[in-house]
Amino acid sequence: MSGFIPVRLNQFVEQYLRKNKDADGDTVRAAVEDALAAWRHGVRCACGNPLWVAGSAVAGYGCFTCITGSAEPDGDPEIDAACDGFFFEANDTEDRFAQVSEIMKNHPRDYRERLEEAGFAWQDDEYDPLYEEEIKEEHVAVPETENQQRLVHFLNTGGPVIRQVLDAYLEERYSETSNLPLIRKYFKQANPNLKAILLNGLAANPTNLELLDDLSYFSEFDSMLGELIHFYTDAGI
Ligand SMILES: [Zn+2]
Repeated sequence: MSGFIPVRLNQFVEQYLRKNKDADGDTVRAAVEDALAAWRHGVRCACGNPLWVAGSAVAGYGCFTCITGSAEPDGDPEIDAACDGFFFEANDTEDRFAQVSEIMKNHPRDYRERLEEAGFAWQDDEYDPLYEEEIKEEHVAVPETENQQRLVHFLNTGGPVIRQVLDAYLEERYSETSNLPLIRKYFKQANPNLKAILLNGLAANPTNLELLDDLSYFSEFDSMLGELIHFYTDAGI
């Protein structure tokens, strides 16, 4: 079978815990909910593809291809709510999907109402105007100074975090005229090169509160809580 197998969030967490005995159920559930919220908000993989929610929950935000290295899913799990625009509680997922495609085929104009009649509930879009505004700002943000160009070049291409890179970041991040949407975009993508800057910066300055704050913000988009706690412990906070 090719494509994703839709699974309910509970199912996914249970399956994951069965295979990863050391994992904590609440943490896994929170990570899935977080990835799902990001997906609903239109956060995408660094490559531009939509997020693979199930994979993003355990591997950090990314699309299926970037996370697994495979071109296409082949029976891999995906959270059902991310497979379509609606959410349902049914035991027999395949039957429900067959029912949905039937309704959509036969009632292309009013499938929404028909689906509701059939017992499907549309999930409330958690519309967050501030978040939407941020996304718009980030979309149009481009490097405006040489320093921003240097920084964005590193964030896009990576490489060793040399002193100049760290300085470019610190200068940009804490300047009065900081191009915040430009940098925020990389936080939301859980950009690995940005993570490298933060971790290197903290390795050199374990008590730098601003870098700790940044790492904390970054961790909202990446499953790296362990590393975060490690740094907070080192800093004695
Ligand atoms: Zn990708």
